[in-house]
Amino acid sequence: MCGIVGYSSLKTNAVDVLLQGLATLEYRGYDSSGIAVFDNDQLNIIKSKGKVSLLKEKVLKHHLHASNGIAHTRWATHGEPNEINAHPHHQGSVTLVHNGIIENYHELSLQLMQEGYQFHTQTDSEVACACIDAAYQQTKDPLAALQAAQTQLKGSYAFAILFDEYPEDVYAMRFDSPLILAQDDTASYLASDIPALLPYTKQYVVLEQHEIAHLHKAAIHLYDAHGNEKEPSFQTTTMDVQAIQKNGYAHFMLKEIHEEPQAIKDTLHAFIHDGIHSNLERPFDYARYEQIMIVACGSAYYAGMIAKELIESEARMHVQVEVASEFRYRNPLLDERTLVILISQSGETADTLAALKLAKEKKIDTLAVVNVIGSSLAREAAFVAYTMAKAEIAVATTKAYAAQVALLSCLALKFALLHGNMTKTRKEQIITQLHQLPDLLEEMLEKDDWSESAHRLADHEHIFFIGRGLDHALCMEGSLKLKEISYIHSEAYAAGELKHGTISLIEQGTPVIAIANEAALFDKTISNIREVKARGAQVILICRQDFHVHKELFDHLITTPPLDRMVQTILTVLPLQMIAYQTALLRGCEIDKPRNLAKSVTVE
Ligand code: GLU
Repeated sequence: MCGIVGYSSLKTNAVDVLLQGLATLEYRGYDSSGIAVFDNDQLNIIKSKGKVSLLKEKVLKHHLHASNGIAHTRWATHGEPNEINAHPHHQGSVTLVHNGIIENYHELSLQLMQEGYQFHTQTDSEVACACIDAAYQQTKDPLAALQAAQTQLKGSYAFAILFDEYPEDVYAMRFDSPLILAQDDTASYLASDIPALLPYTKQYVVLEQHEIAHLHKAAIHLYDAHGNEKEPSFQTTTMDVQAIQKNGYAHFMLKEIHEEPQAIKDTLHAFIHDGIHSNLERPFDYARYEQIMIVACGSAYYAGMIAKELIESEARMHVQVEVASEFRYRNPLLDERTLVILISQSGETADTLAALKLAKEKKIDTLAVVNVIGSSLAREAAFVAYTMAKAEIAVATTKAYAAQVALLSCLALKFALLHGNMTKTRKEQIITQLHQLPDLLEEMLEKDDWSESAHRLADHEHIFFIGRGLDHALCMEGSLKLKEISYIHSEAYAAGELKHGTISLIEQGTPVIAIANEAALFDKTISNIREVKARGAQVILICRQDFHVHKELFDHLITTPPLDRMVQTILTVLPLQMIAYQTALLRGCEIDKPRNLAKSVTVE
């Protein structure tokens, strides 16, 4: 959420590097953007509402020659997304960009106004800027000022900062919002995510909580939370530039759906061969746990619903799934036999990180299921299992969600083999099918089974998804995907629940997407389809090709290859994603960057 780029160089190409970095990070926020650079020691701040391309047009008119600067693409939390509230902000000698939320900004602003500061924006970030400036005016020492400001600021922040008197330098500090640093022969860089650095280097340093970085041309100086200088420790990313290019696809989302077979293959391979990594000095012990608490947000939460159903039914263990923003403020019942599983694509989701901290405080074992290697969740959890979906750029998750479902299904299988009564034959069949999955997904992608569905949906404003068991969990994700990118209102219901109220909304022609892949619940789901059909619904039915359904019960049928239920959901995700994509396309929506959203939600 929100993209930050910072650059200090021996060359005068700062404007190009910063704009290029912002364009790459635009998926993290795109309501406005801005840049601050020194040209001949003269500070220039240029901001624009809307996309980075609009900022670029504006900036290029100024013909700036700068060797360092900072830039930001915003996802507003405080104040309207307009040009004034766009970052960078400037107070006294300090210019900054910010990702996060300053929780005590109101108290701080009152205090700072008494000291003579005036505020021109509605943002919490401008208050942080004044707070740093107030500290800086005491000593004129950037490092001391940043340390002092850290004791005043409450909340979450990643800052890139310029000081008027140090036009060759860029400073950065962070708490709870991510920042990484990098360098090459001629410059040093900072960014909120790896893709912005890929054109220059694969080596990066993670800025830790409360650390301060000082970038001066090609040098990076790093200070720990106590102000002691420390050696940067570099890591190497496996991400390549291909990941941030569309490679001929119309949208990142379409490209990423087509990368699903590979993402699943890599995830299964990594899980089977490397298993779960320990951040403790002990191996992961499946037998240690009696109950599981899954905590996540958005699509990851729906992946958690699938895991709950699979682990509970196949391993007969207690499993709960909770939304992270609720879990973190409850006092959940956990004991030493509980495993808390936290699921997040980015590994930086603020609410999920807070949930992790809560579990750790209670001395409960935590397992992070994350996609970004070395992310905060991965580093802070006791155990980590990586989905290997690689970089996901489209804001609406597809391949990373599918990889989460694949990994969690494997985890469920492990628990089932330990606690359940799965036969050897079934186990072998599941493993064979897991290996077949990437090919089956490729075959499904080749058939265009979704255009007709999209044409049926595109002109409607209300759509229902129904299913039972695992299919209900899938419906939740299918409905979210459609809402996120097509802006059609949809609701996902446990198929048997619709008649307890919501069926009143079904009228002639209302689209209902029904999933009926749960063999044991098939007849029940069919009865529910009959109920909506009788009330005029047009039904798009997704079900296994070996299940027989009377023609009069559906208007359009999408079949999936028959698989064991432990594998089936990983495959059935795909038609739901493609239906959402094609529908959004017909409606002319901004598919990769849907309104009001941003990837990697690093604020609560
Ligand atoms: N809270 C800040 C604002 O609303 C930063 C938002 C962001 O992370 O983009 O401007």
